[in-house]
Amino acid sequence: MAEETLHFQAEVGRLLDIVAHSLYSDKEIFLRELISNASDACDRLRYLALTRPELAADDPNFKVVIAADAKARTLTVSDNGIGMNREDLVTNLGTIARSGTAAFMKDLTGDAAKDTKLIGQFGVGFYSAFMVADKVSVTSRRAGDAQAWRWMSDGKGDFAIAEGERDGRGTTIELHLRDGEDEFLQSERLAEIVRRYSDHIALPVVLLENGKERTLNAAAALWTRPKSEITEQQYREFYRHAGHLGDEPWLTVHFKAEGTVEYHALLFVPQTRPFDLFHPDRRHNVKLYVRRVFISDDCPELVPSWLRFLKGIVDSEDLPLNVSREMLQKNAVVTKIRKGLVTRVLSELDKKAEKAPEEYAGFWERFGAVLKEGLYEDRERQESLLKLAWFRTTHGENWSSLADYVARMKPGQEAIYFISGDDAKGLRKSPQLEGFAAKGVEVLLLSDPIDDFWVAAVGEYEGKRLRSVTQGGVDLSKIDGGEKKDEQADPPAGLAGLVAVFKLALKDEVKDVRASERLTESAVCLVADQGDLDMRIERMLRQHRQLDTAAKRILELNPRHALVRKLAGLVGKTEEAPTLDAMAHLLLDQARIVEGETLPDPAAFARRLSGALERGLA
Ligand code: ADP
Ligand code: MG
Repeated sequence: MAEETLHFQAEVGRLLDIVAHSLYSDKEIFLRELISNASDACDRLRYLALTRPELAADDPNFKVVIAADAKARTLTVSDNGIGMNREDLVTNLGTIARSGTAAFMKDLTGDAAKDTKLIGQFGVGFYSAFMVADKVSVTSRRAGDAQAWRWMSDGKGDFAIAEGERDGRGTTIELHLRDGEDEFLQSERLAEIVRRYSDHIALPVVLLENGKERTLNAAAALWTRPKSEITEQQYREFYRHAGHLGDEPWLTVHFKAEGTVEYHALLFVPQTRPFDLFHPDRRHNVKLYVRRVFISDDCPELVPSWLRFLKGIVDSEDLPLNVSREMLQKNAVVTKIRKGLVTRVLSELDKKAEKAPEEYAGFWERFGAVLKEGLYEDRERQESLLKLAWFRTTHGENWSSLADYVARMKPGQEAIYFISGDDAKGLRKSPQLEGFAAKGVEVLLLSDPIDDFWVAAVGEYEGKRLRSVTQGGVDLSKIDGGEKKDEQADPPAGLAGLVAVFKLALKDEVKDVRASERLTESAVCLVADQGDLDMRIERMLRQHRQLDTAAKRILELNPRHALVRKLAGLVGKTEEAPTLDAMAHLLLDQARIVEGETLPDPAAFARRLSGALERGLA
């Protein structure tokens, strides 16, 4: 077949553009990326060979070979891993397969410095070769295939594919170095880079020098080495390799479990929030090994989805090597491992929260919303998770735990109060909080979409009910907030009449009208009835078209508010009846606006508002 020229997918084109003009100070990381890929390719073939030994039989010692040619100014990285056929080359080295990554690429700003940083977080992978090379060729032969293929590109928009020549299976990547990158031809420099970034790679990485092979790395699975012998740098580079990431680990959990099940685990919590945390096709980043052999990087059973930010590996001593996808799904060993991992990770997080609360706050900011899914999904872990959950509350700006909240509860306060909405800042201004603020009763501000669900599932904490301040009636009278008695606290004489007039005027639009205990500043607010859905859940369901009717609200009037008192004084005067009717609608619309709801009849609202303003001026 003749050579064929193909275009890079648009996102790859942009990525390459950034890489080629990158401001990376450490271009040397390209070698780490190529070795990481070579190692993955060997892992995958080793796994396939468990069931098809003939695939690896002719060349059973997996390794990565680096060679430099000073005259030609080329550097090659070869492996005897699984290799790629023509189609693999086109998809793997021409597109970004995962739509999460592609979507992320669309968000790049065009600002080189910012984009470089962003991309660094998820790792540039293969394309980093173009940081040091102006031409790259990849010759690869897939294990079991007779034909090799060659991929060539200068990284500027397109690549060529042609038939190639290769002895045996695997992949050879040849970089033609750019001017000024000659350091990557020097043996000692290459040896230093491999030791710095790739020492943890579990197979030999060798340098070809005068026809002789020199092994540069320790070539033993990092996770089996004792903790005391592993440097932070080695952990970090392993994290980058295992997680396909470019940032730093925030927490490293490395242990060996012995007992009914035996396994090594080396897990990390990332320093930054992965861009695809909420994307359905994100990678599973905890890889499964069985006795040092890579088995799968698609094993969602290993960690619950509410710990999906974990990266790393688990190496089981008990599973059979030929364990299949199906076997993993309901496997007792996997279930035990999962239990062990969760317990260990939660206890490490707990320690962090105790010992380094500021660091933990950063973690909670990034991953709290994910961890809270566990409260909803995993009954067994509710207690430990409730202990780990931090909240914004009306008590200052800091994070609080539920224990902190309970310690601050007022005498006579029986429930833990919360309000939920789209952002914590906006929530602080909700009128429904006024009465609580006046009493000094603290309210949790819940602003993650998952909050409404776990709150409903959990129900209480240490025997104290979790109660929404926007749902049902509240009786704050039993709570002793130590407040002074308000001289205007007595309800005005016409209040009952006003409530009746409003009820009549709004009978098609609200479920009820009543005097409120929750308000001190605002004239009115809306609340949901006790048995109805919380207003925010309902709004969310409506947005997702899971609900098309809205339950009617209850309009609450503040008997202490000057406007309400004045309106109460108008009750019974026939000539004021139209004013009261207009005011009823106007105040209902006002309450809707504060709630973030859309007005059913904005024109009528505008007309009534103008009328009221006019009367005020007259
Ligand atoms: P990642 O390693 O995060 O998947 P890369 O850009 O590093 O991303 O590599 C893209 C893909 O190209 C890999 O997922 C793999 O399928 C393929 N690939 C790269 N290098 C090799 C190699 N040496 N052998 C086999 N496949 C490779
Ligand atoms: Mg890679």
